[in-house]
Amino acid sequence: MPPVERQGQVDLQRWQQAMLESLEQGGPVCQHAAQYIRERNVRIGFARQSTGARWTLSGKIELNPRYYPPEAGPVNPYLLGAIVHEATHLEQGIALALTVWGEVGGWRADYRAVAELHAPIQNVHWQTVAATPEPPTDDDLRRARRAMLAMAGWRYLVWLLPLRPNWWTRLLAWMAGLFSGKGKRA
Ligand SMILES: [Zn+2]
Repeated sequence: MPPVERQGQVDLQRWQQAMLESLEQGGPVCQHAAQYIRERNVRIGFARQSTGARWTLSGKIELNPRYYPPEAGPVNPYLLGAIVHEATHLEQGIALALTVWGEVGGWRADYRAVAELHAPIQNVHWQTVAATPEPPTDDDLRRARRAMLAMAGWRYLVWLLPLRPNWWTRLLAWMAGLFSGKGKRA
């Protein structure tokens, strides 16, 4: 058993508890994510990366400490939106999360969460992604992908993803299932 995980002087267990309480102050999208994280016991940690936040195949959420310093506390609405975004991907499952359609769901949940927390959203590209019809047509997904790239730039690897689940995202999901079959330690 590893010792209680720490990041500098920040107790991550207390940080996660406070983060969940912040989410529970929001509306239905924030509350749904908090409930999912609690029920699945999703671990949230900090890790250096090129993005602001990411989900892992083993079912964790990792935040970039340069964007979201742990010592600042879990009160920034954009931090909470990022957590809702990644929790949405975990709930979608790997085969959907690794698609443009899955990204649209993540961005939409993030957008709604930030709005529920009364933070301003002025980016027109983000509004475009959030307004994507559900279920989307291929043209809807291509339009959303253009908007995501306009906002996030080409380093954002959404342009590598298929529009929808296909044989390789299902294969990856199946392989990840093989390695996480034994308890929750994978
Ligand atoms: Zn995403």
